Amino acid sequence: MIPVSEPWVDEKEIEFVLSCLKTGWISSAGQFIEQFEAEWASYCGMQYGVAVCNGTVALEAALRVLDLAPGDEVILPSFTIISCVLAVVEAGATPVLVDCDPLTWCMDVEQVKAKIGPKTKAIMPVHIYGHPVDMDPLLELAERHGLVIIEDAAEVHGAEYKGRKCGGMGNLSCFSFYANKIITTGEGGMVLTSDARLAARLREERNLAFQKERRFFHTRLGHNYRMTNIQAAIGVAQLSRIEEHVARKRWMAEAYTARLSRLDGLQLPVEKPWAKNVYWMYGVVLAEALGIDAAQAAERLRTEGIETRPFFLGMHEQPVFHQMGLFVGESYPVTERIARRGFYLPSGLTLTAEQVESVCEKLERILK
Ligand SMILES: *Cc1c(COP(=O)(O)O)cnc(C)c1O
Repeated sequence: MIPVSEPWVDEKEIEFVLSCLKTGWISSAGQFIEQFEAEWASYCGMQYGVAVCNGTVALEAALRVLDLAPGDEVILPSFTIISCVLAVVEAGATPVLVDCDPLTWCMDVEQVKAKIGPKTKAIMPVHIYGHPVDMDPLLELAERHGLVIIEDAAEVHGAEYKGRKCGGMGNLSCFSFYANKIITTGEGGMVLTSDARLAARLREERNLAFQKERRFFHTRLGHNYRMTNIQAAIGVAQLSRIEEHVARKRWMAEAYTARLSRLDGLQLPVEKPWAKNVYWMYGVVLAEALGIDAAQAAERLRTEGIETRPFFLGMHEQPVFHQMGLFVGESYPVTERIARRGFYLPSGLTLTAEQVESVCEKLERILK
């Protein structure tokens, strides 16, 4: 089986993890935490990093420190992972959706303007599958209407928008370091900000809102979202190799595109002139004319030993939200189409040229 994703773990990770074990620094205190936070913030062009135990709680913490009131609205794409809407709902606010761009699969920024109203407090751009969201129109809207921008940059480690790093453009940015992300800590996440007040609030949120003045005295409720020094040790080792990870992803995409652009009816990932795409996952969308849909193609590839994953299913199509009275009767046609016609091919960091060729050959046969 050619797996859809596989982490790249090397000697340095082993050495750093062993040093945690040998010195006893295995909980959420230790030098690797601070090093990982400082180095990741600096890499992305932000001031402060707050490491947490996964990307979902990074989003939850980022939303919570905004102190949103019931009825406050956050605009985000329907085409994303549930963590984004979950974070908005958990913060007591109301998620408001927009559709995505048919080529980049990222939030359609044109649709955001029409959804801004008196209750809008924030916009959450989610950079999808390695490609950045068109940020300038959003940053302008945020400036004009006094809105907060929270980037979900889980899928775009190292990607750039007009020369700026993804995760370095919003008021807050959230990352996941799950095992299939471009750099990983196994499970893990981080929130970045350049606002000292928000950074302090995030640290409280992560650590049960313990106060400095008097331990075990609380003025608000926090959570235990802490990352361990062992996870951070893996992160520091991975970060030292990030340019190689990105280069492998870009090489993989180039190889797929060179081979697959010959096939009819297959939409491939794009890279806008203002973007550096890091191709976290290599997605393809099948034209209606091909007859088979993504689920059928995935099933046939599976029997040929090729693992794939379907695209996201839009948030407006989720029964769990309909039961809460959210998104009922809403329709986002691009999201609905690509959810059914899109899937991604093996995109792991350890993929070889022979494996790329084998995937393409089998895909070609299935589509004929
Ligand atoms: C992976 C991912 C998350 C969630 O991260 P976890 O670490 O798995 O909780 C959030 N947003 C996006 C866009 C992701 O791809």
